[in-house]
Amino acid sequence: MAAQSLEKLLVLQERDSKRLNFEQQLQATPREIAAIEAKVAAEKGAIEAAKSEWHGLESKKKLLEIEIKSTEEKVGKYRTQQAQVRKNDEYQALTHEIDNGLAAIGKFEEEEIGVMFQIDEAKKRFAVAEAELKNNIAGYEGKIRTLRDREKNLRENVKEAEGLVAAARPDVPANQIKIYDRLAARPGHPVCVTANGGRCGGCHLKVPTHLEVLAKNGNGTEIATCSQCGRILYWQF
Ligand SMILES: [Zn+2]
Repeated sequence: MAAQSLEKLLVLQERDSKRLNFEQQLQATPREIAAIEAKVAAEKGAIEAAKSEWHGLESKKKLLEIEIKSTEEKVGKYRTQQAQVRKNDEYQALTHEIDNGLAAIGKFEEEEIGVMFQIDEAKKRFAVAEAELKNNIAGYEGKIRTLRDREKNLRENVKEAEGLVAAARPDVPANQIKIYDRLAARPGHPVCVTANGGRCGGCHLKVPTHLEVLAKNGNGTEIATCSQCGRILYWQF
């Protein structure tokens, strides 16, 4: 029980604290939803990255196949020419071209095998990323739905709490409301704190004896306030 004279104010403070608590939870909800949406976006991003890596490798493979085909055609032409030349140095030059072409084809084919291996790996990464989102998406969507429901409930809670605060205000003496509103406007709730043990329940500094006595016994007119932080002091009996 608090000192008689502050009872109505403490009722107001309690209701105000509840209202603040609901408001804080309500304010936090969009951030929580955004955090889940960011996770979904990150997982979709991983899928897209794996997909574009895979597609890039497929294009590389196609280019290599084109190179192989055109080099094979060149080698074929050289062979045809070779069958028709009479001079030995021309024949040798074509043999050289054919050898070069075959070596190039060998290199392209080797590179193609490497790319095919990379394609398999990229496909696996794509499948893993896709499976992960598929696994998680229902959970993410469920959480977002829950948060949206919570947001709706909290909005109602705030409204209800505001009504209770408004109902408590007319019962509080005017001088108390004035101090309370001034203190409530700044950070550092609660506004009314205990002076038990000779320390301010807000800033924890020592409360002078006369204020402690005033908080405990009251004198019917004055309100004890902390000389350090200005909070209203009351005695918890
Ligand atoms: Zn204080």
